Amino acid sequence: MGLDEDALDYHSRDPPGKIEIATTKPTNTQRDLSLAYSPGVAAPCEKIAENPERAFTYTAKGNMVAVVSDGSAVLGLGDIGPEASKPVMEGKGVLFKRFADIDVFDIELDTDDADAMVETVRAMEPTFGGINLEDIAAPECFEVERRLREEMDIPVFHDDQHGTAIISGAALVNAADIAGKDLADLDIVFSGAGASAIATARFYVSLGATKANITMCDSSGIITADRAEHEDLNEFKQEFARDVPEGDLADAMAGADVFVGLSIGGIVDETMVQSMASDPIIFAMANPDPEIDYEDAKHARDDAVIMATGRSDYPNQVNNVLGFPFIFRGALDVRATEINEEMKVAAAEALADLARQDVPDAVVKAYGDQPLQFGPEYIIPKPLDPRVLFEVTPAVAKAAMDSGAARKELDLDDYVERLEA
Ligand code: NAP
Ligand code: MG
Repeated sequence: MGLDEDALDYHSRDPPGKIEIATTKPTNTQRDLSLAYSPGVAAPCEKIAENPERAFTYTAKGNMVAVVSDGSAVLGLGDIGPEASKPVMEGKGVLFKRFADIDVFDIELDTDDADAMVETVRAMEPTFGGINLEDIAAPECFEVERRLREEMDIPVFHDDQHGTAIISGAALVNAADIAGKDLADLDIVFSGAGASAIATARFYVSLGATKANITMCDSSGIITADRAEHEDLNEFKQEFARDVPEGDLADAMAGADVFVGLSIGGIVDETMVQSMASDPIIFAMANPDPEIDYEDAKHARDDAVIMATGRSDYPNQVNNVLGFPFIFRGALDVRATEINEEMKVAAAEALADLARQDVPDAVVKAYGDQPLQFGPEYIIPKPLDPRVLFEVTPAVAKAAMDSGAARKELDLDDYVERLEA
């Protein structure tokens, strides 16, 4: 059977879908049931009524994340609507559970109105320890996330924006080091100015890149100061408008140190790669087809090309599963009120550090015995590396405590031990 047929079978097998609710307490006796529900349940209700934060003690709130979508920008499938997005959101729930033992309600909303989405999600705060926004189209996604972050006291994280930013940011830190270049000096070109590109560009600045060295291109070419003045560009594109002559992506790439593709497949050719500076860094992350193929990018030049893509069949896969499960795990365990910049930077730095450490045999085996050693072909950890949990999660929890986002203090040594158990 082909992949499509297999997938349809996988999803439709009884029971349909991929997730169910399970109970965590005994329910065998009459006594158990009178504890789980009326009359016993009144006692925790009253405790929480006195102090709502006790919901973390007496309910599943603290381990529960809402994966929320309006179905407006689903994978590469576009605006397919909320019902059609449900397999993806259930799938996200599967990954949260599998990698970080976090429980998810997937919530598909039948609205494309930012105000309605904000109001609906805001009202769900009592149920959840965190909100993962998913596959919401730009530019609405920026506004929805910004307002929810302001109005809610639990983490709100749009994974399409920040996941990509954090994982590729870790890759950038290591790639720059391997190429012997300083992050602050890198001349960086973006292809794409949508949800992931804007967030990624902002995050690279948080990591130490220089905003004035970033050139962003959308489907009409370089976003120049002149275009910002004469065209109806959204405020997020305007944020990265640069006072340079008009031009296309090829013009932007000439002499650049870094290409970051978050646009569409196949729009970069070997000539464009040849025009880049020495030892170029190429993150071609359009899915499923990168802006340029791995082979073509490598073939274009004799010096070291450091390449990453979104694909699992080439080295350096930028896969969001390296981020969101562990970032939320760390945030939930300290009852964080937000996932702030310090926590994101800590996650990226922990991933970058982990890639420099020796890789256990079990991980090497899981990836078909290819040599995994820090260098151009291995700049970020592999998604199935179990050490990611032990490295990224405590780093995020620590950053939350240090930055004042935590409502609960953890002893980090104890915490790491518990994670490893
Ligand atoms: P998005 O919000 O729709 O943005 C797409 C951007 O690409 C838009 O700014 C669009 O320009 C631009 N674009 C389209 N054609 C272009 C061209 N010929 N040259 C330059 N730019 C062009 O999408 P997104 O969510 O940011 O995702 C973008 C891509 O990145 C997708 O392929 C997605 O699968 C991939 N992605 C990969 C990862 C990963 O590997 N981990 C993570 C996130 C996203 P206009 O603004 O002019 O329309
Ligand atoms: Mg997504």
